[in-house]
Amino acid sequence: MGGTFDPIHHGHLVAASEVAHRFDLDEVIFVPTGQPWQKSGRRVSPAEDRYLMTVIATASNPRFSVSRADVDRSKMTYTVDTLRDLHAQYPGAELYFITGADALASILTWQDWAELFELAKFVGVSRPGYELNIDHLADHLRGMPDDAVTMIEVPALAISSSECRRRAAEGRPVWYLVPDGVVQYISKRHLYVPAQAEGNGSV
Ligand code: ATP
Ligand code: MG
Repeated sequence: MGGTFDPIHHGHLVAASEVAHRFDLDEVIFVPTGQPWQKSGRRVSPAEDRYLMTVIATASNPRFSVSRADVDRSKMTYTVDTLRDLHAQYPGAELYFITGADALASILTWQDWAELFELAKFVGVSRPGYELNIDHLADHLRGMPDDAVTMIEVPALAISSSECRRRAAEGRPVWYLVPDGVVQYISKRHLYVPAQAEGNGSV
């Protein structure tokens, strides 16, 4: 499951858990992006912070792990590169790429999208506020195996990282939207605090 995870929240975790159960996956690997090309317009938290929050959030689940594949990449992140790397790391493994309804809608704009379907099966999960629909992919999926893209309903959690960042910036709580350890990490690292509101403490 790829994502910016800025920060990781319970919507991501519930989606991953549900897909793991439905497809009987051995492992769900969370892959935080390095420099996300689709978000170049806004300031994204340092990759190391996003990586650590993802580790904290997933640590208690034996089936969840976190990959540094994209965080350690010096160039822009494309899903196709991530999937190639994961194949090299897990030879012979059958890969599934978990993506929310919003991200699935833009899949045709992804780099080398045709190759993506050869590298992994795609699982689109429902997300409140977005329609889960692959009609726009129909032409492109003709001739591909039926399970190239599967759509599943997951428990609806109307949580987004954007909203978590906004809340943190305004001093509103993010408790129970993100795991407890992530609340504490955000506060410890002063993530999402507007620059002028940050203390002048030296470290
Ligand atoms: P942002 O608001 O910054 O875009 P986000 O909440 O969309 O953050 P991402 O890191 O962009 O989080 O998402 C990673 C993946 O998780 C994407 O495929 C996205 O569609 C999916 N996802 C995010 N939130 C949910 C949710 N509440 N339910 C289901 N899927 C989700
Ligand atoms: Mg998003």
